[in-house]
Amino acid sequence: MDKIASQNLNEIWIGTEKFVPYITEEQIQKRVEELGKEISSDYKAKLPIFIGVLNGSFMFMSDLMKQITINCEVDFFKLSSYGDAKISSGKVKLIKDLNADITDRHIIIVEDIVDTGLSIKYIEKLISAHNPASMKVASLLVKEDSIKYDVKIDYIGFRIPNKFVIGYGLDYAQKYRNLKSIYVLSE
Ligand code: 5GP
Repeated sequence: MDKIASQNLNEIWIGTEKFVPYITEEQIQKRVEELGKEISSDYKAKLPIFIGVLNGSFMFMSDLMKQITINCEVDFFKLSSYGDAKISSGKVKLIKDLNADITDRHIIIVEDIVDTGLSIKYIEKLISAHNPASMKVASLLVKEDSIKYDVKIDYIGFRIPNKFVIGYGLDYAQKYRNLKSIYVLSE
């Protein structure tokens, strides 16, 4: 039976699949604070635009913004996702474009997780077409063993193995994004 996810569970069953705690709320908040300090120091007086990739990045984006101590702007892209599957379809589609004019601006793309790197590659191409002053990528999670495309992730929260994770913005068939910590599919 599909139960409503509540916080701080020791395990979450989704059908016959078991998810267990992986990165705690405290670990996430500590790392996000560190990233916020680093980015704030790197972008002093540059008025960067943080561009979040919806839906997955909304929680990371929100917490990261609270740790940014310099003036900045915020905008969002929305890409089509995995659908309801756990494996990438290998296709990316733009569902919502940016509102901001990014020409000559310093851009920081904010992602929840980089898996194959396809989404980042796609976004970098879209952004480059507008001739920004600079472009960097911040991702809370990176599955380094899964990356297939030539992408550079400048700010990494946690490097993780190639396992399916949920929580803190990351979904399973659109659910579980509201969890404060990250859970991993148990073998
Ligand atoms: P990529 O384009 O790098 O292959 O995949 C990036 C996107 O795939 C992420 O923004 C996220 O939506 C989804 N994704 C990749 N790995 C996971 C995962 O372990 N869990 C969840 N929930 N989504 C993932």
